[in-house]
Amino acid sequence: MEQVKLYDTTLRDGMGGPGMSLSVGEKLKVVQALDDLGVHFIEAGFPSSNPKEAELFQRLAELELEKATIAAFGMTRRRDRSAEDDEALRIVVECFAPVVCLVGKSWGLHLEKVIRVSAEENLAMIADSIAFCHERGKRPVFDAEHFFDGYRDDPGYALECVRAAAEAGAENVTLCDTNGGSLPGFVGDATAAVVAALGDGVEVGIHTHNDAECAVASSLAAVEAGARLVQGTVNGYGERCGNANLASILPALQLKMGFDVVPPERLATLTQTSHYLDELCNMTPYPDRPYVGRNSFAHKAGMHAAGVAADASTFEHLDPEAVGNQRQILASELAGKATIRTQASQAGLDLGEQQAAQAVERLKQREHRGYHYEAAPASFELLLRREAGSYEPLFELESFKVLVEKRAGGGVETEATIKVKVDGERYVRVAEGNGPVNALDKALRGAIADRYPHLADIELTNYKVRILDESHGTGAVTRVLLDSSDGEREWGTIGVSENIIEASWEALVDSLEYAFQPR
Ligand SMILES: [Zn+2]
Repeated sequence: MEQVKLYDTTLRDGMGGPGMSLSVGEKLKVVQALDDLGVHFIEAGFPSSNPKEAELFQRLAELELEKATIAAFGMTRRRDRSAEDDEALRIVVECFAPVVCLVGKSWGLHLEKVIRVSAEENLAMIADSIAFCHERGKRPVFDAEHFFDGYRDDPGYALECVRAAAEAGAENVTLCDTNGGSLPGFVGDATAAVVAALGDGVEVGIHTHNDAECAVASSLAAVEAGARLVQGTVNGYGERCGNANLASILPALQLKMGFDVVPPERLATLTQTSHYLDELCNMTPYPDRPYVGRNSFAHKAGMHAAGVAADASTFEHLDPEAVGNQRQILASELAGKATIRTQASQAGLDLGEQQAAQAVERLKQREHRGYHYEAAPASFELLLRREAGSYEPLFELESFKVLVEKRAGGGVETEATIKVKVDGERYVRVAEGNGPVNALDKALRGAIADRYPHLADIELTNYKVRILDESHGTGAVTRVLLDSSDGEREWGTIGVSENIIEASWEALVDSLEYAFQPR
């Protein structure tokens, strides 16, 4: 089977999307998730010297990835200096990343109106920059910006640009539909012309944006025309209407076009990965998203459901399990039970038939209220423990109270009071914090720290809040996701309530209790 490679640019192009903001720790989690999925290249951004980027690249250099290769992103040299003397290019080449992706121009309009460079000088900028990276042992990828607009205007010159990169040692030239306005037929034809012009020496890639809602279709058309690398972002994150969605491209390439992209068992984690990335990026998973959406394989009762029960291919374009999704028909709760029992046994719990059925029921109710356990496996395990009867609470709550006081012209002060019992003994503590959750956390820990010295090792590493307004007729609810770490392990918990303090409390208690469960 012929191979097509995936190149994810969530951490560079994807960060242009509205509301996208990730800490270094979250970016590393994205990288890990993409590697687990089997993505071949992960573009990490420009390795500049600003502290956040410097830390990211330093930690990436230490990270051991199973499959993915890290790519650093940069630009071709400036017009008035040599590649050696171009500061930005030097930074990219000195970075540890084995692959270097350089973006350069291929459209006369841009040369004339935006950067004011002659056509010949632009070719020299491309060739010098790629050669500079190649000579220093990097694997250069050339991103031909606005390639399709350039090709529409002047096909000869657009081809000269990618040929300059190929001849200077580029491992791959990627054709970019930067404005996202090209349609699949044109993208396919132009890609075929490039593949024919460049011959076997260099691999051709495709990078599209979704402004005409054709990013996925154009990427697939390019592959049909001979492209063998697809750039995009899992879930289609990106500025304006987004980048090409690799979560749709991957299953199409593999299951429909017969290419070898990732091992089948990795493909079966696609849904989980897509949802996990949404949680990390603080996005709501779009239920109608093809392949991975909650509704992708949901059948209403009636003829569809009956047809699917008789033969799934009657109403489904592929087997949902191939992409890690699930068929949803009201009658198919057995599948849920089996999954839950497997997950319970992974946590060392033995759930009986009856308990598993109750757990499925509880899970459904909770999901309906806005719980989402993919990013909160620790809370899910606690839910199973409660069903299995092997759950030991750390303490018994009598009450808590949080006061937030703002004085005119002054700061905000927060104070929490907590009353709890451990083994019949009553503890009362007051603590101040830089916010209500912080104050509650301190008061609770203060109250029970003597009984549980290991609490001192547990740190809350991330706190995310989302208002779910698409709730089910009950008014908006707040979902809190909390990440915690004890220096060895990391775990995620969740709380949901109409009240943000209550939701935070629930996630906090789960977080601390999880740390004390028997392993
Ligand atoms: Zn782009």
